[in-house]
Amino acid sequence: MDGAEALSAAFRYYPHNGERHAIPKRAVGGQVTTTLCEVELTVDADRKLGTERTCARCESAWRSILGIPQQSQRQALLDAPAYSPEMPADASAGGRR
Ligand SMILES: [Zn+2]
Repeated sequence: MDGAEALSAAFRYYPHNGERHAIPKRAVGGQVTTTLCEVELTVDADRKLGTERTCARCESAWRSILGIPQQSQRQALLDAPAYSPEMPADASAGGRR
């Protein structure tokens, strides 16, 4: 079966709230869709990918759909009980929950 290949072509990255999230590729402008990290949004056909970082949850979900092993660093983050998609790159900027 080539289900994984079909799925790999079934999503694309789309910029939303400063990150690029995976949405169904067939979602067109004006359509309400849901990202792999379960954020609902309305697709803007004119919106282009820029320099956003990739949403870790979408990437992880996409990897698991495809059966691709998680990156060891990401896996460590996902295993952490207090995992947050917001990486504490600057620990002084706001506290962690
Ligand atoms: Zn996402």
